[in-house]
Amino acid sequence: MEMRADLVIVGAGMVGSALALALRHSGLEILLLDGSALSVKPFDAQAPFEPRVSALSAASQRILERLGAWEGIARRRVSAYSDMHVWDGSGTGQIHFSAASVHAQVLGHIVENRVVQDGLLERLHDSDVGLLPNARLEQLRRSGDEWLLTLADGRRLRAPLVIAADGANSAVRRLAGCETREWDYLHHAIVTSVRCSQAHRTTAWQRFTDEGPLAFLPLNRDGQQDWCSIVWSTTPEQAEQAMAMDDAAFCQALERAFEGRLGQVLAADPRLCVPLRQRHAKRYVQEGLALIGDAAHTIHPLAGQGVNLGFLDAAVLAEELVRACERGERLADVKVLSRFERRRMPHNLALMAAMESFERLFQANPLPLRWLRNSGLKLVEQMPEAKALFVRQALGLSGDLPALARA
Ligand SMILES: Cc1cc2nc3c(=O)[nH]c(=O)nc-3n(C[C@H](O)[C@H](O)[C@H](O)COP(=O)(O)OP(=O)(O)OC[C@H]3O[C@@H](n4cnc5c(N)ncnc54)[C@H](O)[C@@H]3O)c2cc1C
Repeated sequence: MEMRADLVIVGAGMVGSALALALRHSGLEILLLDGSALSVKPFDAQAPFEPRVSALSAASQRILERLGAWEGIARRRVSAYSDMHVWDGSGTGQIHFSAASVHAQVLGHIVENRVVQDGLLERLHDSDVGLLPNARLEQLRRSGDEWLLTLADGRRLRAPLVIAADGANSAVRRLAGCETREWDYLHHAIVTSVRCSQAHRTTAWQRFTDEGPLAFLPLNRDGQQDWCSIVWSTTPEQAEQAMAMDDAAFCQALERAFEGRLGQVLAADPRLCVPLRQRHAKRYVQEGLALIGDAAHTIHPLAGQGVNLGFLDAAVLAEELVRACERGERLADVKVLSRFERRRMPHNLALMAAMESFERLFQANPLPLRWLRNSGLKLVEQMPEAKALFVRQALGLSGDLPALARA
């Protein structure tokens, strides 16, 4: 059997699902396929936190609200944070950001990826978007003006336009021969949730250690403030050692690495270790094809920006496709798709470059660089306007915003 659609989105993760929802009223026949079951799990408020979480910006929240998904997300479990505290573990420099400095109530929300995904899927199941669960893409080739997609179970699909939202190891990107620039951060990230003896005070904490950044992100369960999600970026050797420790030893090592800022680390959930790699596609588009989200770019989690960039990609691409539909243009035309690339690539590249420099500066050990970063942090701490600018950037409410993210 061969299926046909105007548009096939490969990957129904957070970003692919957001794109499908953003196009649900476009009149286009859309197929959204994913290798997983695409089922929405019943939510248990007492269940442990999922290890994978994202710090969602205000712009992402707006997009999710307009897609009708935020209500289902907030009904499950979200943790607002109002402050951010960053410090240099091998110096005295520190900096504090607060939502109040720009008259906002929150800087963002920490949300489990599963919760975001379920909020989006819930809306998709109520929409006209064609969902193909358990559909793993295996082959992709040009056939005239269309793409022919073959799934692992032999099913075949045809479409003039394919969107790759299939994550960091995108099969579409590989099969379509899209080139990337990539390099290893020589960092692994350990992620889990931990319980601390002191309240997190709705603050996101980040300590730069000699081995890499360590973040404690506030989690909220029934108003209690003792759980944090941690992202501990460190050398592969140290990550291997930390993964091999029993819970008590791991909690002690973590508490030491975090200088005990939230008191004792009392308990830890099962840990996950993720190798970190920066990747950026040289082009996001070609005739009949566009890459979005992690398929187009993966970035160090120290910025907490990966999926925020992905949601903006999805919103901008949807906006350009709808506009092209209204003008009667051919959507698969590389000229149409390039408008999306022109709006998103400079923004993504600028953020990736900023994060890269930040990461290098904090990894650097020579004395002049350590002096520079400590003095830099202290200087910026004294500059309320510079800090407010940074906070507005973090909220994601500046620059060329798609209508879905605008106030
Ligand atoms: C440790 C860590 C912490 C992070 N913290 C943050 C944060 O605080 N804030 C933030 O914004 N970002 C954060 N990120 C980044 C964020 O997790 C990613 O940017 C985001 O998950 C990417 O979403 P995506 O939908 O593009 O890809 P994915 O979530 O990878 O989804 C891809 C989908 O494609 C499907 N798929 C893959 N291959 C195929 C195939 N061949 N056929 C069919 N389907 C396929 C998969 O099943 C999956 O559903 C973090 C990342 C890491 C590693």
